[in-house]
Amino acid sequence: MSFSLSSLAQPTSPLTAARILGVRIDRITQQQMLDEMDSLIAQAHEQRARGEQAPCQQIVTVNLEYLMAAQRNVGFRRCLNQARLAVADGAGVVLAARYLGTPVPERITGTDTLAELAKRCAARGYRLYLLGAAPGVAEAAAQRLQQLAPGLQIAGTYSGSPAPAEEEAIIARIAQAQADVLCVAYGAPAQDLWITRNLERLPVALAMGVGGAFDFLTGRQQRAPQQMQRMGLEWLYRLYREPWRWRRMLALPQAILLVLVKGQKA
Ligand code: UDP
Repeated sequence: MSFSLSSLAQPTSPLTAARILGVRIDRITQQQMLDEMDSLIAQAHEQRARGEQAPCQQIVTVNLEYLMAAQRNVGFRRCLNQARLAVADGAGVVLAARYLGTPVPERITGTDTLAELAKRCAARGYRLYLLGAAPGVAEAAAQRLQQLAPGLQIAGTYSGSPAPAEEEAIIARIAQAQADVLCVAYGAPAQDLWITRNLERLPVALAMGVGGAFDFLTGRQQRAPQQMQRMGLEWLYRLYREPWRWRRMLALPQAILLVLVKGQKA
């Protein structure tokens, strides 16, 4: 039997969600997340078949950097809290949820989810649009996803930029491509704010920020070894591979301290 959050009050009820520094995190597994995404796309198809508007739903994958950004930027906090699904992407968020007595079942990364989502889309005939990353990378990521998920229909790929001046043209491209799911790789918080800003006019059922997923899928960036991922040390590997991230990563100890002091509150 597939689990569906659609049967619960939306956004996810406080009973099923954790709250960390004012940000809601849904306490679901990756499988439940995929089931929910699946049923949201199916719902959108049904609505469109009845001639009704099918609003785009946003998915966010939250790590400690997101939580810190959400403390400084109220607009970003609102963006995260209005998302249809907000999941724990980061060992720190998993630990914080456990510390606050509202554990999440597992860590859910954008990169892993994208590969699994591609398999679902291939099985159901849903069309995927890949937006963002450096020129040529989304195309290469599309090819890799088609290897991982044979039969996957790529509605389109485009690099573009998150600059507001480009929005109109990008949305026209996506509309033309008749996509069901949009994956945006503009990094955080730009990609998530881009989606929220355009949510009402995005002609897709689902939109999700995926950070460096296209770079990881195509081997332009390397994921941490499985063992490090299991130990919750992916952030350390990333710092080793991309030392320029050190300033951004100061958010990690800051967020942990804030959780100890403030807990659920912003
Ligand atoms: N990116 C982009 N346009 C921008 C900024 C970033 O296409 O203006 C892309 C970049 O090429 C990379 C992704 O966004 O593919 C961000 O990856 P990163 O790993 O930095 O994501 P984050 O850690 O912010 O989630």
